[in-house]
Parts: sequence; C-alpha cells; structure tokens
Amino acid sequence: MNGSLYLFPVTPEAAPDPAPVHAALEALQVAGAPLAETAGKRVFRAGEGFAREVIFAGCSPHLRFEAAHADDRDFCHLAVHGPLSTPRLFTGPQTGRPRCPSCRTRLDDWRERAIAPLSALPCPACAVTCRAIDLDWRQQAAIGRLLVELRNVFPGEATPSDRLLTALREAVGSDWRYGWAAMSEAP
Ligand SMILES: [Zn+2]
Repeated sequence: MNGSLYLFPVTPEAAPDPAPVHAALEALQVAGAPLAETAGKRVFRAGEGFAREVIFAGCSPHLRFEAAHADDRDFCHLAVHGPLSTPRLFTGPQTGRPRCPSCRTRLDDWRERAIAPLSALPCPACAVTCRAIDLDWRQQAAIGRLLVELRNVFPGEATPSDRLLTALREAVGSDWRYGWAAMSEAP
C-alpha cells in the first residue's frame, strides 16, 4: 500500500494561484524535473532539496528517488493537485474516526461521510451540522482544492520542515497544515 504526506492550506475552500506554490517548491529544490501533467495535477521528480525539506525521523534505508521501471510508483516524488473545483478529501487505510469540531465526539460513520465530503450531516452527539471536510481528522486525512502530495512518505516517518511550510505560507498568504493518506491515483 502506497502512502503520501499531503500539505494543504488550512482553509478547505482556499484555491490560491498554483504558480507561486510551484515556484516555492522549485526554489527549495523540493520539486525537480516534471514527470507528468494531467488536468488538475502536475507530477515532479524529487529535487535535491526533497530530503532536506522533508525531515525523516530516523534512518530511512528504503528512500529511493528514481523509478525502477515505467510503472514504478514506490519511490519518493511529488504531485501538486489543483486548484480543484471543489475541496477533495483524501483518506487512507490508517485514517481513524474523525472528531466533531464542536463536541469532540468521534464519528463512526466517517467512511460514508468521506464519500460525500461536502454534504452537511448532523453530529449524532451534539447535533451540530458539519461537512466531512470540516471534521477534525488529526492529520489522518488531507483536504483541499490545492494540495502538495509527497509520495511514499508514510505516517510518522517524516514531517515538512518549517522552512517549507513558511515558503508555502508566503506563496499563498495563509497557513498550511499536513496529513497522511493513501497515494492518489496515477500519474
Ligand atoms: Zn458534535
């Protein structure tokens, strides 16, 4: 199972201009040469700064920055998603039950909610109505219209550097947060 570390603006609806985000990723050498481009997604090779701005907690002998063959996705590289027309919610096998932002109750029906991330549903405990994208996912999901996906960086294994988060904040004018989820579909 492939996993990714996603970086995204704190506001789910934010759809900033992606050009300054690309520029920031290139300036820090996190993004290297382009690998693929589709509508709404650009995929890059990891640059020389990737291992500097993604700080691994321990030794990571499996780190690999080159594809071994044409269909290989098990190497560190990155994708920039968006801006998407509506916020998307990325989850994964390690995603646990999110909490209601109002009463902190954990919600058991999160998998149904994740299917329609913009539908408003009442919290079963306090009856506050909120959307799946507004729940507290505790870094076990990724949410947004513009996201930077660092592929093959697994939960708890590494975190983005302060310098990278600062550069992204300056690129869009608002704070970013991060979370882990399954790797997005190819490319
Ligand atoms: Zn509640």
